[in-house]
Amino acid sequence: MFDFKGKIAFVTGGSRGIGRAIAVELGRGGATVVIGYAGNDEAARETCRLVESVGGRAEAKRFDVADAEACQAAIDETVKAHGGLHILVNNAGVAIDQLLLRLKDEDLERQFAINLKAAFYLCRAAARPMMKQRQGCIVNLGSVVGEMGNVGQTAYAATKAGLMGFTKSLARELASRNVRVNLVSPGFIDTDMTRDLPEEARAKMLESIPLGRMGTPEEVASVVAFLASDAASYVTGEVIRVNGGMLM
Ligand code: NAP
Repeated sequence: MFDFKGKIAFVTGGSRGIGRAIAVELGRGGATVVIGYAGNDEAARETCRLVESVGGRAEAKRFDVADAEACQAAIDETVKAHGGLHILVNNAGVAIDQLLLRLKDEDLERQFAINLKAAFYLCRAAARPMMKQRQGCIVNLGSVVGEMGNVGQTAYAATKAGLMGFTKSLARELASRNVRVNLVSPGFIDTDMTRDLPEEARAKMLESIPLGRMGTPEEVASVVAFLASDAASYVTGEVIRVNGGMLM
């Protein structure tokens, strides 16, 4: 467990899956965690309850990360209400699988807006207060697919590969103000996103994982918490894979 006492954290997609586990892990270290979510009020409330049950403070904000103004407002409100922002985790994401020949423009646009452009909006809003504080940490959630590619995921993979270039460039832009930017690249993790996979595809996926199983949201969250903590104070511009050996 890392020490996040006095730290203000913002986690998008915090209502479920990996984002919820990240919020809880930061809360366990004593952080005040603001979670963003799209529409699942019940799940967002449950995350807040879980964060508080481990000693953190929690608040939920419902907004669409594809909306640039809403992103700016969410960060501004957080800084105003809590007096700063130390940790931003860009975790909200969607996968709309389709072969390129059948990919609809609206699904292409949606994945770029939620998975990639949102990180620009939120980091732009968070960078100013973090630079002023001379302290901050941003963690973006990529995917093994961004490095390997996958059938039916041209758009999703492109957004995740884009996040890698974004992470490294921003890490260079903000380093002189002691703001670190890193990316965690999960493999096949047991969440709602992967639950509906056909049995055959799931079995094939498992065969390609040396550790022989899916990862848990908590196994991703512990790496995000490390990057967000002072234990990673000399780590920036890095991509850390959490994929059971699926890609080495
Ligand atoms: P998930 O269980 O499907 O949860 C998605 C989260 O994102 C929810 O909290 C959802 O809010 C939120 N969200 C979706 N669209 C949004 C929008 N337009 N505005 C605001 N919030 C939005 O996802 P997950 O599996 O935990 O994945 C988390 C991240 O890890 C994603 O970036 C994903 O690409 C990445 N990842 C996942 C895996 C995997 O195997 N699961 C592997 C590699 C990378 P609501 O609850 O309100 O809908």
